[in-house]
Amino acid sequence: MAAACRNTICSFYIIYMKIIIAGAGAAGLAAAVSAAKNGAEVVLLDRNEKAGKKIYITGKGRCNFTNIAPVDDFYANIVSNPRFMYSSFAHCDNRDLIRFIEDAGVATKVERGGRVFPESDHASDITRAFTDTLSQAGVKIHLHTRLTGLIIEDGQIAGAKVVREGHISERHEIRADAVILAGGGLSYPSTGSDGNMIPMLEELGLKVERPYPALVPLLTKEDYIPLLQGLSLKNVTFNVYSEKKKKAVFSEFGEMLFTHFGLSGPIVLSASSRIADFLYRERELKAWVDLKPHLSPEKLHNRLIRIAVENPNRDFSHFFDELLPSKLCHVITGLTGIDQKRKINSITRQEREKIQFLLGHFPMTITGTRGFKEAIVTGGGLSVKEVDPKTMQVKKIPGLYVAGELIDVDALTGGYNLTCAFSMGALAGYSASRGYERNCNE
Ligand SMILES: Cc1cc2nc3c(=O)[nH]c(=O)nc-3n(C[C@H](O)[C@H](O)[C@H](O)COP(=O)(O)OP(=O)(O)OC[C@H]3O[C@@H](n4cnc5c(N)ncnc54)[C@H](O)[C@@H]3O)c2cc1C
Repeated sequence: MAAACRNTICSFYIIYMKIIIAGAGAAGLAAAVSAAKNGAEVVLLDRNEKAGKKIYITGKGRCNFTNIAPVDDFYANIVSNPRFMYSSFAHCDNRDLIRFIEDAGVATKVERGGRVFPESDHASDITRAFTDTLSQAGVKIHLHTRLTGLIIEDGQIAGAKVVREGHISERHEIRADAVILAGGGLSYPSTGSDGNMIPMLEELGLKVERPYPALVPLLTKEDYIPLLQGLSLKNVTFNVYSEKKKKAVFSEFGEMLFTHFGLSGPIVLSASSRIADFLYRERELKAWVDLKPHLSPEKLHNRLIRIAVENPNRDFSHFFDELLPSKLCHVITGLTGIDQKRKINSITRQEREKIQFLLGHFPMTITGTRGFKEAIVTGGGLSVKEVDPKTMQVKKIPGLYVAGELIDVDALTGGYNLTCAFSMGALAGYSASRGYERNCNE
């Protein structure tokens, strides 16, 4: 437990804290480094066989660990509760993170959209930056060790119950001054983050916002979507409409992919995070793709006229040959309802207008998302109202701290999710290590 020593310079008694950190993912590792640097005795544990198991698969194994955008731009990329992050970023922002990684001997590089990666393209280097720092600070990581409960006495944290998995499972109670929960969300449960800390939080009477898969592929209703499986569209605009709001609730330009169940690709993943609430409430959402967003209505009209003039005796089934990928030509001509065998010179003005509309509004209905197994991140989690954003301490339980994806904060792709987890972890570790700092004159 806490050990006291006299700090002769500022006449404070600093009492060194013993802190249990459950979860050695991004948030837990950052919390451990921060707490250890502030003199705390750290017990870092993870149920897995290695620390940072999810970090290894981030950024397709290359780990896009942060972004060089000005920190103010981060908030626009955080989907839920961006303001909750103010204090965490004030304590440790993207630049602090890059400096820490480089000081630990890992060179970094910046790619498209300000994404920052280790120069080696090896995610393991990022984990190593933390684990090396921890071993230099004498912190041991207890692997195969699962937190199963909290010890709370007189309304305050007094320690945690853990199980060490082995041939014979051993149960222990570890006394401590503070516990930091950093067990992650529910996405990619094979990495150890399966949401097991959510019921623990609920048992303590804390509010949890319904967890849902985010940055995840979308399911669609129409039979023609699976026919497009494997087709990737670049430079299109994907739009989603809310019947209740009577307006488009998402519209983004970029790249998307058709799959056997629906849609994936960068703009679809972003949409999944942005439309989650609408989809939950409305069950189904109308969506459309503008296949030619760069062509003004006038230019597109002229283009269609030119195709008709230059190919009068072509079958209608080949109308879009110069305009669209072949898989899509087949589906779009089918959607027009026009007989495929008709010659292009027989297409009426009304039919041409319908064709033009379809090119700007290729329709589909979103019926849901894929599950947590395929979700890059979890939306929902511990309500931010339960947590003091300046310290990451749970307001109702002194000594209990939280950090990372476990909390109702999620962001878009670009290195923002890891930055949030690292920053929250660093603040939680720092705050927990100072929890019992007391002025001797008090
Ligand atoms: C495929 C994929 C790619 C991604 N790529 C990127 C990317 O490039 N950039 C980016 O910014 N974000 C990316 N993310 C998101 C990012 O990885 C997460 O947001 C981030 O890892 C969350 O950190 P965390 O520490 O909160 O949770 P996690 O990293 O999930 O760590 C939680 C840890 O807690 C442990 N744990 C859980 N319960 C217990 C328990 N009871 N006892 C002990 N230990 C426990 C788990 O084993 C796990 O190690 C990606 C996610 C996925 C799935």
